[in-house]
Amino acid sequence: MAYFVDRTVKMTWWERSYLPEIIRGMLITSRHFFVNLFGFVPFFLGQKKEREIFTVYYPEEMAPIPIAYRGRPVLAINEDNLPNCVACGLCEAACPAYCIDIVPGENTGKQNQVERWPKEFTIDYAVCIFCGNCEEACPEEAIFMSDDYEIPMLDRKKMKFNLEQLSVPIEKLKDRVEFTRKMYGKWNY
Ligand code: SF4
Ligand code: SF4
Repeated sequence: MAYFVDRTVKMTWWERSYLPEIIRGMLITSRHFFVNLFGFVPFFLGQKKEREIFTVYYPEEMAPIPIAYRGRPVLAINEDNLPNCVACGLCEAACPAYCIDIVPGENTGKQNQVERWPKEFTIDYAVCIFCGNCEEACPEEAIFMSDDYEIPMLDRKKMKFNLEQLSVPIEKLKDRVEFTRKMYGKWNY
């Protein structure tokens, strides 16, 4: 069925008069300016311990990161100090940026009770688009999007992280683990 989109914009006489809308915009901007200013003054005078403003002094202060945020993907290291990864390659195949490289190794008995483990595992953050496909594709809860976004570097070659650099203890990721269980559990794969 054809769908008709009316592209003619009907402006009110108030909008057509133009200047009132500019004044309205400036009032909104001024309101934010003064709210921030007066939220800072009591802190500056020592009357309050915290500033009542929206901005933070980055990098000394960090803004709270919501759990759904997709920072750099990392590899979970379990309680036995081993990666959960079994080098199945699903994340590598799901990655649209082709920035994951895995070299599987045969289990020699030192690794998890699985047949394979990642002898080498690299992610090139200079290419990664932080889409989260790798996390979604992983059947072993081995790769997660973290809350870390502080990875810019001057040398792009150094942005290719190896297994050791990618490893993060699973305790540090437990909120994200719970979040992904709830999120992907919905889709009934
Ligand atoms: S977040 Fe996306 S682009 Fe980055 S490694 Fe994972 S799948 Fe690849
Ligand atoms: S991180 Fe997950 S999907 Fe990627 S190779 Fe390891 S087990 Fe497979």
